[in-house]
Amino acid sequence: MSTETMEQVAPIRSSLDIEIEYPAGLYMGEWLRRLTEEERLTAVRCRGCGKLLYPPQCICTYCHAENIEDVEWIEVGPEGTLMLWIAIKMPWLDPRTREFKDTGHPVGIIVLDAPDGGGVLCMHFLEEADIEKLERGMRVRPVFKPREEREYFPTDIIYFGAV
Ligand SMILES: [Zn+2]
Repeated sequence: MSTETMEQVAPIRSSLDIEIEYPAGLYMGEWLRRLTEEERLTAVRCRGCGKLLYPPQCICTYCHAENIEDVEWIEVGPEGTLMLWIAIKMPWLDPRTREFKDTGHPVGIIVLDAPDGGGVLCMHFLEEADIEKLERGMRVRPVFKPREEREYFPTDIIYFGAV
């Protein structure tokens, strides 16, 4: 047996290609089903503070109340008002496929109409790629993928386009 000491050298790096499926969750599953199958955007009204949660959440972001039983679904949008936008000049990583994508579309912060006169914030791509043509306050609505291409994912809305 050798008495030489061994030193650790650089670690060996490898990657695994594992495909997994996991449930979207109680709320996200229903929210995605309504979005993909019915083209409806829905929020949940918090039982603690009354605020609309979009996308829906079991635990309220504002007051931390649990909203698990007797869920009150509220339809919002589909139209909304563009508040601001961000032109992203780099590809984004799709967490599902680990592929870099470049949509060529800016990302908008939209206030979706809500029945009580308020609204809920939504962040999504905008159809208009030329940011010089975007205006704060312009009305927008979702443009959905063809039904046969939908994946029960928020990108089933391709982007929001001008009304
Ligand atoms: Zn709340």
